Amino acid sequence: MKEQGIQLKNISGNNLEQCLKCSICTVYCPVSAVSPEYPGPKHSGPDQERYRLKDTKFFDETLKMCLNCKRCEVACPSGVRIADIIQSARIEHSKKRPALRDVMLANTDFVGTMANIVAPVVNVTLGLKPVKAVLHGVMGVDKHRTFPAYSSQKFETWYKKFAAAKQDSFKHHVSYFHGCYVNYNYPQLGKDLVKVMNAIGYGVHLLEKEQCCGVALIANGLSKQATRQGNNNMRAIRKSYKEQNRMVLTTSSTCTFTMRDEYKHVLKIENEDVREGISLATRYLYRLVESGKVKLAFRKDFKIRTAYHSACHMEKMGWVVYSTELMKMIPGLELIMLDSQCCGIAGTYGFKKENYERSQKIGAGLFDQIKSLNPDCVSTDCETCKWQIEMSTGYDVINPISILADAIDVEETMRLNNV
Ligand code: SF4
Ligand code: SF4
Repeated sequence: MKEQGIQLKNISGNNLEQCLKCSICTVYCPVSAVSPEYPGPKHSGPDQERYRLKDTKFFDETLKMCLNCKRCEVACPSGVRIADIIQSARIEHSKKRPALRDVMLANTDFVGTMANIVAPVVNVTLGLKPVKAVLHGVMGVDKHRTFPAYSSQKFETWYKKFAAAKQDSFKHHVSYFHGCYVNYNYPQLGKDLVKVMNAIGYGVHLLEKEQCCGVALIANGLSKQATRQGNNNMRAIRKSYKEQNRMVLTTSSTCTFTMRDEYKHVLKIENEDVREGISLATRYLYRLVESGKVKLAFRKDFKIRTAYHSACHMEKMGWVVYSTELMKMIPGLELIMLDSQCCGIAGTYGFKKENYERSQKIGAGLFDQIKSLNPDCVSTDCETCKWQIEMSTGYDVINPISILADAIDVEETMRLNNV
């Protein structure tokens, strides 16, 4: 694009000219609400981008205060990709090299593989006060933060041992992008997905080679590594969707959003041909049930009162409705919708010493609402929201797929679907 005779480099797919200067985005920005020193989405995004495109000296490190929650984009009446502009500017212009802490937090595959080998020791060690003090003082990981526990058996190991052999016997087939959290921390969620899909007659297969989606790498300034991993994931997803005719299901809203939208908009990875082949499992299931292709039967003794938290990236995708409507099908489930607000963690953001207080301030309203409602549990589709809410409220946070897996009558569901 050309402006005042200067050739500008378009780094953000750049629709900054669409900005109407209405400032609605700033009203919806959770960081602006608690940190007056943050310039806000309008200024950090389209306003400053004009200057940055002319001269990189206008790049401002306050951009790293952005959570990349996309709430500004959801609110914008003119469709400006504000957060994409901010993330692209960080990738393009930031001169600061990622610190050791950021490299460690971002490399979830490497850290998870190491931690799984000695999980009980790692879990105890990370909870010790002297260790937290060292992490805080030396590494810059806030001492108040609780780390998610590591599992001693990876999901992939469980799958190969106990599930893989029978998946070919089903009539229908899907692939599963399990993500790092399921693989290294909480394999139960993956087992729950296999249980539900098998009950309706769908075999679940792992991708030929899955790597971390890269969301933490992008956030921590490791975009080259994120692009490499993204390209590998796209190859595996393409094979599943286009060659094997298998949808790729996920149970993490953030992994889903990253692969569907951030790959193209932020990392410039071409994914248009397979984007529709990637779906959150709740969306896929809801559509199957709604179309009458699949039937679900539920346990008569299942009772739960759950409060649903809409993760930021679920709001951005517009997919909250699939998870909540699916849960509403469970007769014994009482669903309370929590106000739509950011929990403040934003992946690795809330782990960092410089962000911890802000992170907790952002989530404070949500934590208070949960405590005042006193549900049996909270439900959400994002694992990092789960960590933040569990640590800050003491309530268990359960993925809708795990609630569904607990609620279904497996034998009756199989009978209804001729499995
Ligand atoms: S909401 Fe959209 S149009 Fe309004 S100031 Fe923000 S970016 Fe510009
Ligand atoms: S992505 Fe979130 S934190 Fe960043 S500017 Fe937009 S609303 Fe604010």
